[in-house]
Amino acid sequence: MKKLLMITTGGTIAMKRDVQSRTIVPAASGQQLIDSVPEIRDYAALELSEFSNIDSSEMTPELMFELSCLIRRQIQRADIDAVIITHGTDTLEETAYMIDLLVNSPKPIVLTAAMRGFDEVGTDVPSNLLAAVKAACADNCRNVGVVVVMNDEIHAAREVRKTYTSNLATLQSSGYGPLGIVDQDNVIIYRKSLTREFIPAEKIETRVLLLKIAAGDNGALIGYAIDSGVKGMVVEGLGRGNLPTPAAEQVLTAIAKNIPVVLTSRCFKGRVLGVYGGTGGGKKLHNAGIIYGGDLSGQKARIKLMVMLGLTSEMTEIKHIFERRMY
Ligand code: ASP
Repeated sequence: MKKLLMITTGGTIAMKRDVQSRTIVPAASGQQLIDSVPEIRDYAALELSEFSNIDSSEMTPELMFELSCLIRRQIQRADIDAVIITHGTDTLEETAYMIDLLVNSPKPIVLTAAMRGFDEVGTDVPSNLLAAVKAACADNCRNVGVVVVMNDEIHAAREVRKTYTSNLATLQSSGYGPLGIVDQDNVIIYRKSLTREFIPAEKIETRVLLLKIAAGDNGALIGYAIDSGVKGMVVEGLGRGNLPTPAAEQVLTAIAKNIPVVLTSRCFKGRVLGVYGGTGGGKKLHNAGIIYGGDLSGQKARIKLMVMLGLTSEMTEIKHIFERRMY
């Protein structure tokens, strides 16, 4: 029988109803989670490590990095076959992606979560936990990078996003599709994410801001970011990767001050590329030194820039490594 390390961090998967406030709050312990699904014992032995019990809106890059370092150490143990992490869905995609960038192991690393609390009617806690255990035990989940298992689907950490505030099928890899599925006792992997990568950083730089652009943006927030001493920024631009001219001018100021700026799109699918001319066109920005974020969402590009800046602060190196699998 396989031995899995289960690391709990909190999220709805560990929440219960609070009658007085009529809300759901962190309450279930890691052991309660495991004990709630006795079927797990048919598949694996679990060792428990309680990292935190927080709503994932309170998860920080510092905590994600600490968690990644813990997994880096634990996954090397000969007696551990795989790691499962329970997490809230709000920021799960960011934590999963940071672990994916920082941990290089053939062993399965599986995150799971739930949309309905531990004691809510129709809860998805047991089914998601059991599916995560099955995926973690599956040999075909080795060498596929960090995955997220929810609603019987297996998603790549790099691609998955929370898409719905309340629906059980909230996690989607829009534009890609899941890597595979968990169907009863069958764990099927249909494809691998070939653009995933490992960045051997020993620290991260957390002073990285994500700024979303809207029509008529006057660049004021980018100017604020520069003045605040930010060490990098991700600008979630329009369409193919274009900015209103005043925002583009502020980006050029940031680059002149040696602040790396990554360009992503607020579109849900597709890549940024310099197709359009004009003062705020992606081509001009790229020629001036902006880094293309490819198909990454703004929040994932921010995580990658934090990790990259832990490795180097040299602009050309950041640009080279950031774009290498995508351009
Ligand atoms: N607010 C919750 C969290 O992210 C949502 C969830 O887990 O589904 O912790």
